[in-house]
Amino acid sequence: MSVLVIAEHDHASVKAATLNTVSAARAINADVHVLVAGENAGAAAAAAARIAGVTKVLHADAPAFAHGLAENLAAQVVASAAGYSHVLFPATASGKNVAPRVAALLDVAQVSDVTKVVAPDTYERPIYAGNAIATVQSGDAVQVVTVRTTAFDAAAADGGSAPVESVAAQADSGLSSFVGAEIAKNDRPELTAAKIIVSGGRALGSSEKFNEVLTPLADKLGAALGASRAAVDAGYAPNDWQVGQTGKIVAPQLYVAAGISGAIQHLAGMKDSKVIVAINKDEEAPIFSVADYGLVADLFTAVPELVEAA
Ligand code: FAD
Repeated sequence: MSVLVIAEHDHASVKAATLNTVSAARAINADVHVLVAGENAGAAAAAAARIAGVTKVLHADAPAFAHGLAENLAAQVVASAAGYSHVLFPATASGKNVAPRVAALLDVAQVSDVTKVVAPDTYERPIYAGNAIATVQSGDAVQVVTVRTTAFDAAAADGGSAPVESVAAQADSGLSSFVGAEIAKNDRPELTAAKIIVSGGRALGSSEKFNEVLTPLADKLGAALGASRAAVDAGYAPNDWQVGQTGKIVAPQLYVAAGISGAIQHLAGMKDSKVIVAINKDEEAPIFSVADYGLVADLFTAVPELVEAA
């Protein structure tokens, strides 16, 4: 049976996480459909139809989907799920908000954060902050799965020409309503989509120093800024910059960790980066165990020198 991928989108375009989830879906079955539930989301549905490997797009359009309220989205997914063997979500904040509701409504177990499809009913997923890999087999007739996007290459955004089918939108559940949103403005690339990330830890000592030392390097490299939890908890960097087990999972081409010790909870969020550069004055710091390039140095001298040389 076909696999249904729930698109993450902004009504006009499809977010990158959807492309990785399509790749995971194709590892299960070649017949991959995508559900786009939004308001005036025709452009996003058309973008989903262009993704290579997608064979059909279901498009549900209603004001109830304007703000991605999980209750309304879950009801739509459940209504659309009949006939599918799998329902896949990206394991993003949004996907993780909706998928458990869908699993509960379908009365099945959710398989979370898969990093590999072993067979259509068997998956690998990291546990203990990535220190062990569990192989999970599900016996459910409909498998509700969230996908760790960094573990699957993105499907090509262009190349497909799937038909778009309008489906009836479910009524507003009335269980929640949209009150408002405060969107953090950021001129930099989005952390989970960035090709280069410069991350800072507790060693930076203050938000002023964090910005003064790391921003010029990030600017030179066209990088997103990230942080350890210690740096976030101390107020040196905003919450949404946190990388790690309880932050964002990233896998950029280049990850520069400055003054980060490399606790397992931090490594869980970045150790799949293609090239890792660590700057730490303690040569015993665990970050060096995952680093491709390690610089034992004081970051307050080393980072400005890098900026100078870049
Ligand atoms: P520290 O461990 O204090 O390390 C600072 C490093 O800077 C040291 O290695 C030191 O040698 C180096 N240093 C100091 N001065 C300089 C200098 N001048 N130049 C160069 N190097 C210098 N952490 C995360 O990051 N992300 C998470 O998602 C996360 N989730 C967690 C979830 C749970 C349930 C728990 C219990 C913890 C979690 N943590 C997470 C916290 C984690 O255990 C660490 O406490 C945290 O990552 C440490 O941050 P840090 O490396 O910045 O600080």
